[in-house]
Amino acid sequence: MTRERLVVVGNGMAATRLVEELLARGYDGHVTVLGDEDTPAYNRILLSAVLEGTHPRDAIELGDPASYDPERVDLRLGCRVLEIDRDRREVMLVDGERPGHERLGYDRLVLATGSIPTLPPIRGLVRMDGQLHPKVHAFRSLADCDRLDAAAGSRPTRRRAVVVGGGLLGLQVARALTVRGLATEVVEGTEHLLSRQLGTPGGRILARDLRRLGTEVYTGTRAVRLTEDGLVLDNGFTLETDLVVLTAGGRPSTALARRAGLLVRRGVVVDGRLASVTDDRIHAIGDCAERRGVTTGFVPPAWEQAAVLAGLLSGGTAEYADSRTVARLRATGLDVAVLGDPERTDGEVVEMTNPLVGSHRRLVVRDGVIVAAALVGDLSRVGLITQHYDRGTVLGPHEPGELLAPETAADTASPALDDEVEVCACAGVTAGRIRACAGLEEVRSTTRATTGCGGCAPVVRHLLEPATAAV
Ligand SMILES: Cc1cc2nc3c(=O)[nH]c(=O)nc-3n(C[C@H](O)[C@H](O)[C@H](O)COP(=O)(O)OP(=O)(O)OC[C@H]3O[C@@H](n4cnc5c(N)ncnc54)[C@H](O)[C@@H]3O)c2cc1C
Repeated sequence: MTRERLVVVGNGMAATRLVEELLARGYDGHVTVLGDEDTPAYNRILLSAVLEGTHPRDAIELGDPASYDPERVDLRLGCRVLEIDRDRREVMLVDGERPGHERLGYDRLVLATGSIPTLPPIRGLVRMDGQLHPKVHAFRSLADCDRLDAAAGSRPTRRRAVVVGGGLLGLQVARALTVRGLATEVVEGTEHLLSRQLGTPGGRILARDLRRLGTEVYTGTRAVRLTEDGLVLDNGFTLETDLVVLTAGGRPSTALARRAGLLVRRGVVVDGRLASVTDDRIHAIGDCAERRGVTTGFVPPAWEQAAVLAGLLSGGTAEYADSRTVARLRATGLDVAVLGDPERTDGEVVEMTNPLVGSHRRLVVRDGVIVAAALVGDLSRVGLITQHYDRGTVLGPHEPGELLAPETAADTASPALDDEVEVCACAGVTAGRIRACAGLEEVRSTTRATTGCGGCAPVVRHLLEPATAAV
């Protein structure tokens, strides 16, 4: 019997996890991974940490490609897939190391092409020759990070930067540049920061925190033009700057799928087997996939989809049920966690904002169950709230209010998380596995908790040193 030829397009976070899961499950086909970036796969969440200088480049590499058995996995870097020929079941590609175009047959194809940044409507971003203005940067890949790092320079205190976009990505970059010493400003078109995740009180607390940490914030105004004088805003102000970083806007990378005639809405439309609804030999996972009208854009669902698909390709039957979104902001000095969609989910809202200490907590509760939550500035209760959210625990009438109160020493001394509760959504690590580790180093090296978005770090610290951990 001939072995199944599985071709994966993209070598990002979803693809790497897929390969690891296939190997762990003893998948008996042959896997070829075609990634257009020249570098081995890396943790995109930590790009801002590389820019900031807290993580060396090689510390963010993912997986261990050197250990792949070539009989089972062929990893080809610098290799871009241009077309999919569904009739012949072939992909056409260009390999940076070989001249001309090449065709490669598949029995099954996985699209893990991620997402691409989109240019906001600001005049002057692109020059007459079609190139980006030299001051303008995207921040999606390690190559973008290297370019921005070089532009920030070795004497960054003399440089100024404007980050366009006050979403999760924009705040990560803005914090990294500020920590590097650049005078950094954020421009956000909506009325407050993180407007997709937070309401006005949470967004305001965050803006206050950011200013306190040295980053200026302008909300409710849009950048309209880049000139020699700087970035012109629609309120008439001009921000003088050496660098402009674009973080507003991105969309699933679906051009290949579209040209191949697959159904694409915002992402490649897939069923519960993560197969295209047009062609069941082609799957899509990660940022480029759309299931039940939802594209995700976060690592935990991308990794969950990779695990489900690996199971299915290895003979399993468990299909993909929608992921719960858990978003954490990984930025030095800023703490935000968002479960579900607290601004758009129906239910009773229990909320507490304390501008004096810079904290905001919002729970949306339906029939006693937490159906969404947002926490800004103080994540000490995030583990417990996530546990209730994940399990659908029915709470008594006073419990939501109690969860909003500041944590007491008694809470810290005896964290109420059960062993099987998932603490790190990025790496799928439970409280029990953390408790079994001797310290943070062991947690990092054996479970990979805290090395993804980093949002689980406060809970991990509590679990390791319940009596003494700082909140
Ligand atoms: C700076 C930054 C910070 C982030 N922070 C967070 C965070 O804190 N928390 C969180 O959950 N998520 C975060 N995200 C989002 C997260 O990184 C993505 O959800 C995740 O990477 C999705 O994995 P993926 O494999 O679908 O896509 P990617 O990791 O983007 O990988 C896709 C790969 O496919 C390649 N590719 C595309 N087309 C082709 C082609 N035709 N041929 C060959 N290769 C191709 C791309 O170059 C890329 O290498 C962040 C993203 C960025 C950019």
